[in-house]
Amino acid sequence: MSISDNLRKVKENLPAGVKLVAVSKFHPKEAIQEAYNAGHRLFGESRMQEMDLKHSQLPSDIEWHFIGHLQTNKVKVIVPYIHTIHSIDSWKLLQEIEKHAADNQKRICCLLEIHIAQEDAKYGLSFDDCREFLAKGQWRQLKHAYIGGVMGMATFTEDKDLIRKEFRSLKSFYDELKQNYFSEDKDFSEISMGMSDDYEIAIEEGSTMIRVGSFIFGQREY
Ligand SMILES: *Cc1c(COP(=O)(O)O)cnc(C)c1O
Repeated sequence: MSISDNLRKVKENLPAGVKLVAVSKFHPKEAIQEAYNAGHRLFGESRMQEMDLKHSQLPSDIEWHFIGHLQTNKVKVIVPYIHTIHSIDSWKLLQEIEKHAADNQKRICCLLEIHIAQEDAKYGLSFDDCREFLAKGQWRQLKHAYIGGVMGMATFTEDKDLIRKEFRSLKSFYDELKQNYFSEDKDFSEISMGMSDDYEIAIEEGSTMIRVGSFIFGQREY
């Protein structure tokens, strides 16, 4: 199967309103170009330098999504072209994005990364940390970096029921936040969940954005 065949397979069953971020990390720019030629425009990368290099070599109408851990001192580099950052886990990071987005006179969609898996994750906010963060209200000052929704990753397991339960918990947390803080805010609209092995479950549980890598591009060589 070619990259364009795989893309078509994912898109065939994608409900209207669910976006596909093709996760191209560790794959060469030629692989992205192939997906681009097949009409795809949303790509996700998890390493800043890798994305930066690919961005400089590929068409400018690609919508770049950053899905990995982002250090505050790297924000400045990606702000001029980044569309969405899926991995917000601190006020400090949001402030830094706000500052550079203002300098660039652009808006950037920022998703709050929520820790929903049973594994000890290095990154992501717990439900309670996130509640506390929103209750504090500093985020209301943001003008260029806006909170566009939530992102989460399920436990790496064969246990489909557990995966479903975790996705369901993220959807209901999104609904809680929407009701408490964003009921009037159209921008708060995304639930980024679902990867190659679990995106079908994620869609059933209300995902609006799936992040699919190996299913489209093949296994990564690290
Ligand atoms: C790598 C990665 C993906 C894609 O994973 P696949 O299993 O290859 O689909 C999705 N989300 C995040 C945050 C990732 O780091």
